[in-house]
Amino acid sequence: MTSNKRVCILYTGGTIGMVPTEFGYAPKKDYFNTLLNQIHQMKSPALPSWDVVEFDPLLDSSNIAIDEWNNIGRAIAERYEEYDGFVVLHGTDTMSYTASALSFMLEGLNKPVVFTGAQIPLCELRSDGRDNLINSIIIAGEGIIREVCVYFGGKLLRANRSTKIASKELQAFDSPDYPALAEVRIDICYNESAMSLPSRPKTFHFTELQSFPIGVLKLFPGFQFELFEGMINSNLKAVVLEAFGSGNIPTNNRALVDGIRKSAENGTIITVTSQCQRGGTTLGTYATSNDLVESGAISASDMTTEAAIAKLYYLFSCGYDTDRVKLLMETNLRGEMNDVV
Ligand code: ASP
Repeated sequence: MTSNKRVCILYTGGTIGMVPTEFGYAPKKDYFNTLLNQIHQMKSPALPSWDVVEFDPLLDSSNIAIDEWNNIGRAIAERYEEYDGFVVLHGTDTMSYTASALSFMLEGLNKPVVFTGAQIPLCELRSDGRDNLINSIIIAGEGIIREVCVYFGGKLLRANRSTKIASKELQAFDSPDYPALAEVRIDICYNESAMSLPSRPKTFHFTELQSFPIGVLKLFPGFQFELFEGMINSNLKAVVLEAFGSGNIPTNNRALVDGIRKSAENGTIITVTSQCQRGGTTLGTYATSNDLVESGAISASDMTTEAAIAKLYYLFSCGYDTDRVKLLMETNLRGEMNDVV
């Protein structure tokens, strides 16, 4: 069977196209097409036809941040009508951050944007990149999914629910608190019930992000607030506070509690995520979250830290005031969370 679909591959870097160098694996300019030409399945008429856009510079994803998110979003927006779907080749290290950000930046998306990559480069015999790439192109061409997602090691995940869970396994990603959108077995089995999304505009709209001062603070037993005071009391627009369990903090640590309260009074949005992979935060369940409730901190519900950071950048970039950002942080916009009840 011949496919009449068209897929655009945006190659940003990452292990998939890397080569060994004296300093370790690194991307190599103008080399990716050579690698693709060695994969005979890439020439199959059953595969959607594809074009590659190679980014310059190619990056290890540790070096990817807001400018690159904008470049990826712009590249998709400029070609949106031309293709049935998009595959973004990206390093695995920060893939969930970028994919989460794109899920907010691309509003009203009506076709698949599939992030993938590899744990072993294509130039190596046992690369997982071939399967990841080919399945991602097929999923992008099929057009069943209409959102940003991550395909890796047989699973298609909602982007803003995904997280990198393994640095040495081929199943490197999971969405611990949300079912997979599809599983690739002999057939590609889509999970219809997981594919529902909050209502969205009919027209596609791309929002560029700007940089804002946002912090992430992970609590641990024995946390010495004095060491972090400079950070939390500076002019941060938001702090993602990775708290214990359902959103609890050591309330006997008065320096911490007072610091959070002061920072909230100064207008910093305290967004509370959970260190647990499943279930998220429900502030007010325990007395050890009461100080957070009283200081006006908001619950990130079951959002991942990656999604919470991306969403904060997005909402600030939309120009919303503090109250609106707080309200929307507790509202499910792109399937990233259960609404806070
Ligand atoms: N360091 C690499 C990157 O994130 C790892 C990978 O792609 O698997 O670009």
